[in-house]
Amino acid sequence: MENTEIFQNKVDNLLSKLKRCYPSDYDGLLLGAFNAAYKAHDGQLRESGEPYFIHPMGVADVLIDLGLDVSTIAASLLHDVVEDTYYTQEMIDAEFGAEIGALVKGVTKLDKIVFKSKEEEQAENFRKMFMAMAKDIRVLLIKLADRLHNMRTISSLSSERRHTLAAETLEIYAPLASRLGLSYLKCELEDLCLMVMHPEVYAQLVKDISLKRAERQDIVDNICRLLKSMLDELGIHGEVSGRPKHFYSIYKKMVAQNRTFDQIYDLTAMRVVVETVSDCYEIMGKIHTVWKPIPGRFKDYIAVPKPNNYQSLHTTVMTNYGTPFEIQIRTYEMHKVAEYGIAAHWKYKEKRAESNDLDKKLGWLREVMDMQGEMANPKEFLDSLKIDLYSGQVFVFTPKGDVIILPEGSTPIDFAYTVHSNVGNHCVSAKINSKIVPLATKLKMGDYIEIITASNSKGPSRDWLKLVKTTTARAKIRAFFKKEMKEENIKTGKDMLEAEAKRKGYSLSQLFQPKWLDAVMARLSLTSVDDLYSAVGYGGITTNQVLFKLIDCQKKEEAKDAPPKLEGVQINNRGDNSVIIKGSTGLLVKLARCCAPVPGDEIIGFISRGRGAVVHRQSCSNVKGMEPERLIEAEWANQTQGVIANLKIVAEDKGGLIAKIAGIFSDQKLSIESMNARLDKQHLANIAVSVRVNKTSELEFLFKKLQQMPEVIGVSRT
Ligand code: MN
Repeated sequence: MENTEIFQNKVDNLLSKLKRCYPSDYDGLLLGAFNAAYKAHDGQLRESGEPYFIHPMGVADVLIDLGLDVSTIAASLLHDVVEDTYYTQEMIDAEFGAEIGALVKGVTKLDKIVFKSKEEEQAENFRKMFMAMAKDIRVLLIKLADRLHNMRTISSLSSERRHTLAAETLEIYAPLASRLGLSYLKCELEDLCLMVMHPEVYAQLVKDISLKRAERQDIVDNICRLLKSMLDELGIHGEVSGRPKHFYSIYKKMVAQNRTFDQIYDLTAMRVVVETVSDCYEIMGKIHTVWKPIPGRFKDYIAVPKPNNYQSLHTTVMTNYGTPFEIQIRTYEMHKVAEYGIAAHWKYKEKRAESNDLDKKLGWLREVMDMQGEMANPKEFLDSLKIDLYSGQVFVFTPKGDVIILPEGSTPIDFAYTVHSNVGNHCVSAKINSKIVPLATKLKMGDYIEIITASNSKGPSRDWLKLVKTTTARAKIRAFFKKEMKEENIKTGKDMLEAEAKRKGYSLSQLFQPKWLDAVMARLSLTSVDDLYSAVGYGGITTNQVLFKLIDCQKKEEAKDAPPKLEGVQINNRGDNSVIIKGSTGLLVKLARCCAPVPGDEIIGFISRGRGAVVHRQSCSNVKGMEPERLIEAEWANQTQGVIANLKIVAEDKGGLIAKIAGIFSDQKLSIESMNARLDKQHLANIAVSVRVNKTSELEFLFKKLQQMPEVIGVSRT
């Protein structure tokens, strides 16, 4: 057939369909819209080379099948004229009235939204934005039908364009169709996307399913017959059908469950449609007595409908043919909702916090829709299709094309802080749709916002608190000022400490020794010097709380440099080492067992509870965990008795080993208190030596000498 012939055929078919479905509006409104759109698009071609008008006709055709009202059909014929032809919005309003004008305007506006992001959260924002911008569900339905027709005729587009459209359809339009309960629309969109995105998978599925179908058709027919006879037996009126599941759902199952086609058994959904809810349960009971239900596969969506208001009983049973079958049982009413959602009931559910509010709105909407049949005035019903789910919110774009949702009345400052605190704090001006605007400008739906920042900006102004609408922006501005205040406090606190130290005869740099400061900060639960200054600055702590301790430390430091005064000399338990605990007398002193310090080791005292002072090596790992307030300076008193150090020497067992080792000790003039040697399993000599030493340096020299012996493998202190 010639292109023109095909086109003429389509024109004739649509006109007769319009006449048949809308007899009373055909001559006036519908023919008027048809002719206007026909004329406007005349001469325009689609990429396939066909007349452009094929597209609006195709969209109208989809909507007629959905049973939509005459205004929607007229608007669908006109949906592309404002964007693509000499027709203006004003001309449509004037010729076809405000209602059709608003529908066309809504679709034109939705066409301008460009979806870019791949993130799920962004996809969700876009879906919300569609619902919010549509304002009237019928706009959304025209847009869905528009997309369906574009997907059906996608083959003439470039591969890149096809993939972009398919990805967008899968992320935005198919989920929207599902939410509106339009399962038939959703399934077709998804299958078309699969065909574009994975053509080889799609082709294989079509092939596999048609093979299986031939193989299984007999079984399906038999099961249909058996189900019908069960209905007859119970005296229930109803219909039984078996139809293949859509390709995309099988594909999704194969991917999600990592199965091959042969491992997917429920390719066909058997459906029983009856008159009442009690019929549903009755026939299900019957089915379960004849065929064994597969555990875990029974779903009662009648008692608990899906969010999009879908209701049905689902069960999977093992039939006498050895294959499981899924059976869906529902009433005619439920079936209508399942296939055409919007025409009967409509409900949209949100996961987020606002869901309660939304449910309330939708509850009301559903009530109105439920009364649809009883309504005298169809206009009243149409008004109920005007959705305002997202009133109180504006949807705007970042320069990258992401959608940001803000409360109505928000300004570019709110936007900036929503993007990032730094963007907010350094914001100096803003552009809306490429034009510089005052920061107090209220954002509008669909605006593109660009924030101009300057790294040297002084930060937010206090006036901004009056301009912002979001709590986050307000909190972030307040946080900025609090931090700003802190910087002032730091300066004040430092000045105060400096002045007070000077008055007491010290300089701050002299007193702020890291070790002393750490102890002071730990006591005051502060973590940085800035926090300490700031705390002094705003009056949280006094200068004396800081300075007393530091001056005390300074005084001790000075005392150290003075000739030694033996205050608080204590003799340890064994009576052979003296330790001076600075600044105290009468303490019982013990040497710690964990690190066994010897004279010459750097040591420190720990005031234990009720056990006097325990002296550790300063390097002892236990000291690090001790409360700094209880640590006290300690040093060895000048004395010569020395302490016992215990050594362990591992060496090869060669002749004269013990004599050689003993020789090294005597060369050092060190007296061995005890010595014990044994052979281990590897025939190595393990020698334990106790030796009396006076200084660490003696011990270090001894180690060196021992390690130099060729027989010695290791020396350690125990
Ligand atoms: Mn279009």
